[in-house]
Amino acid sequence: KIKERRRVSVIIFNQKLIPLRQRKLDILSVLRKAVRDESMVKVHYQPIIDMQDHHIIAAEALMRIEDERLGMISPGEFIPAAEMAGLISPLTEIIIRKVCTLLKTHEQQTSHLSHISINISADDLNSSEFAHRILDVIEQTRVDARKLSFEVTESVLLSPSDSVQKNWNAFSERGIHFLLDDFGTGYSNLETLVSKPFDFVKLDRSVVSNATNNYELLVLIAGMLKYLGKSMVAEGVETEEQLQMVKGQGIQFVQGYYFSKPVPEAQLLAWLSGNLRINPKV
Ligand code: C2E
Ligand code: MG
Ligand code: MG
Ligand code: MG
Repeated sequence: KIKERRRVSVIIFNQKLIPLRQRKLDILSVLRKAVRDESMVKVHYQPIIDMQDHHIIAAEALMRIEDERLGMISPGEFIPAAEMAGLISPLTEIIIRKVCTLLKTHEQQTSHLSHISINISADDLNSSEFAHRILDVIEQTRVDARKLSFEVTESVLLSPSDSVQKNWNAFSERGIHFLLDDFGTGYSNLETLVSKPFDFVKLDRSVVSNATNNYELLVLIAGMLKYLGKSMVAEGVETEEQLQMVKGQGIQFVQGYYFSKPVPEAQLLAWLSGNLRINPKV
C-alpha cells in the first residue's frame, strides 16, 4: 500500500517539473547556438541621465537573445543558465565587440557619451585570459578604451583570485572604470566599498522603489557614498516622486523607466544625434 502511494506522488511531482525542465533545456540549447551565431545576440541600451542638464551622459548595454522559436529571451532567465553552463565568457566577448563596433561606427554621436557600461560576471573576471581577450577586441576595433566601463556586483569580489586582481589592474591601466552594481541589496559589504577602487556605485532598484516607505535607507546609503566620495547612479527610477527623492539626496546620475527602457541601438543613436532631452516632462 505504502509503496503504491509513493509511486503516485512521484509521478505527479515529475509531471509538474516537465515544462520547467524543458524550458531550461531549450534555453541551454539556444545559448549554445548563440555563442556560435552572434546575430542572435542583441544589445539594448538604457540611457543614464545627468541631473545637472538632463542630457544622456552614458548608457548601459543589456543583453538579449533572440531565437526563432523562443522569441526574445531576457537576461533574468538566461544569464544564470549561461553562468552555470560556462557559456558566459563567449557571450561577454560578443557584447563587448558589439559595443565597440557601435562606438567606432558612430564615433561622432557617441562622443556625447562619457562611457557605455557592460555587465560582467564572476567567470569573466576569474578567467586569466579575460583582460587579454577583451583588450584585443578593443585594439582591433580601435576604440578608446576609456569609453567602456564594467559593472560588477560585489558577489564577484567575494572570492578574489589572482586573476580578478590582474584583470582589474589591466583594465584600470587602460582607463576602464568599474562600477559597483546593485548596491543596497544582498550583503552590501561595506568593506568592498572601501577597499576596491570603484569610481561609481549604482544604487539598486529596490532601494529606489522602497524609498517611499523607507526613505531613511536611501538617505543613509546616499550619505555614506557621498562621504566616501563615490559618484552615484540611481537605478530603476520609475516615477516623478522617486526622481525627486533621489535628486534630493544629491544623486547626480539616474537610470530608469521614467526616462527610458533599454532601447535598440538605432533609438539611442537618434537621441544622441538630436542631443535630445528624452523626457520632456523634466
Ligand atoms: P542590472 O545590471 O542591474 O541591469 C538593470 C536591469 O534593470 C535591466 O534589466 C533593466 O532593464 C532593468 N531596469 C532599468 N530601469 C528599470 C526600471 O525603472 N524599472 C524596472 N522594473 N526595471 C528597470 P535586464 O535588461 O532584464 O537585465 C537584468 C540583469 O541581467 C541585469 O541587471 C544584469 O545583472 C544582467 N545582464 C544583462 N545584460 C547582461 C550582460 O550582457 N552580461 C551579464 N553578465 N549580465 C547581464
Ligand atoms: Mg548593471
Ligand atoms: Mg548587473
Ligand atoms: Mg543593477
